[in-house]
Amino acid sequence: MGPFWEQVKHVKVEEGMKASVDADICTGCGLCCDMCPEVFEMGDSVARVRVSDVPDSATASCREAAEACPVEAIRITT
Ligand code: SF4
Repeated sequence: MGPFWEQVKHVKVEEGMKASVDADICTGCGLCCDMCPEVFEMGDSVARVRVSDVPDSATASCREAAEACPVEAIRITT
């Protein structure tokens, strides 16, 4: 498995990416909304996803937001 195969596999994983916020865990800090406004927005007191399918242009920032969430409330599925 060389670098090229790894690159192809990575692209395939990114297709059909979905994100969700666990409202029971989210503290409403707003960090994800700042980092990836294409996908996350603030609801009444917690963040929520604006789109069920993460657009290709937002997959990187969506992953960064999930990693940055202080309480790990963001789930990403592919
Ligand atoms: S970064 Fe995490 S805790 Fe903060 S608003 Fe987003 S999902 Fe909620």
